[in-house]
Amino acid sequence: MYFLEMEKLVMEQRKCTYDKCGGCVMCDKTYDDTLKEKQKYVSGLLSRYCKVDDIISMYYPYNYRNKVHATFKNTQKGKVITGTYKEGTHEVVQIDRCLIDDKIADDIILTIRNLANNFKFKAYDEDRHTGLLRHVMVRVGASSKQVMVVIVTPTEEFPSKKNFVAELLKIHPNITTVVQNINPSNTSMVLGNYEKVIYGKGFIEDTLLGYTFRISSRSFYQVNKSQTETLYKTAINGLNLTGKESVIDAYCGIGTITLAVSKKAKYVIGVELNLQAINDAKENMKRNNVKNVSFVCDDAGEYMVSMAEEGKKIDAVIMDPPRSGSSSQFIDSVAKMAPDKIAYISCNPETLARDIDYFTIKGYKPIKITPVDMFAFTKHVEVVCILTK
Ligand code: SAH
Repeated sequence: MYFLEMEKLVMEQRKCTYDKCGGCVMCDKTYDDTLKEKQKYVSGLLSRYCKVDDIISMYYPYNYRNKVHATFKNTQKGKVITGTYKEGTHEVVQIDRCLIDDKIADDIILTIRNLANNFKFKAYDEDRHTGLLRHVMVRVGASSKQVMVVIVTPTEEFPSKKNFVAELLKIHPNITTVVQNINPSNTSMVLGNYEKVIYGKGFIEDTLLGYTFRISSRSFYQVNKSQTETLYKTAINGLNLTGKESVIDAYCGIGTITLAVSKKAKYVIGVELNLQAINDAKENMKRNNVKNVSFVCDDAGEYMVSMAEEGKKIDAVIMDPPRSGSSSQFIDSVAKMAPDKIAYISCNPETLARDIDYFTIKGYKPIKITPVDMFAFTKHVEVVCILTK
């Protein structure tokens, strides 16, 4: 009862642009209905392999996104607004608040928008290559409450930078670090490769399953703490480890799963392509005093090929690839190394189905499929699939 009333209240208060911005596209439905839809979608794609468990829902499905990103745009009246691209276009839809965003992050973005207008800054214009502000990203540590603000500019030039940040910190003293990211390219990538720390350490920390993690601006970090813990536990428990196994955690990001699984395994190797994430992972290993893990910066597929060619064997694999899924090269080499069990964490059930088909050819079969609702009210759904030889 409490929950339904809450839901009604939220819906009434919402002056939401979800139908335009493509964010929480399901927020005109009740949370229960969104879960049913996601269950049906995952079952439709995956129940031919094995029974699909009931989706693991969120306890409180609002304000869970602890990374919020906005793009700047100039209005015809010469004001700067912030918002997100309308799906599939480069048109910016103004967003003031979102039902699923961390409230602190939304507040900070609104302040930055107001300050930008006070300082008479202009948004970057992609066609004319003029203006200062491209994007802003705010990351809040769900447990640490440390806050990182990343301001993306097209060049290093940032007039009145010190004053701007000082004003921002006066209004939001909870901000722990501010980074200027320089992105001169004309691609849809938000962040460029070069950055300058304007204030604080240049990263934030957060805890997951009892481990503390350093998170830099360009490193991937799951946006929903409580469901991430559930997701990781579902994957790790599915492997039934005894403490004697050697494990590979492929697509490991900053090493969150690698460290979480380390106490149940003999040895864990984390593999990841993004150098900033691997540097975070190595630092995270040290700060948590974990001795039985190592990290490799490499393409996961190529790393697996070299391991398989060396004749290495492995007991279990955890894999958490991006939306495009894994590669046949990766799966071929995993099969050569012949782990008993694989925990495949997927953010895209369609590429998961494709990869399960290939694993099946290679002699593996799914024995447990569990959807987890990590992104309430969006169309996205995460799935853990346990495969066995
Ligand atoms: N397991 C981590 C990260 C998952 S996101 C976590 O839960 O936080 C997927 C990760 O795969 C990203 O960090 C991305 O940088 C990495 N990645 C993408 N393509 C890759 C590839 N070909 N080889 C290795 N890592 C890759």
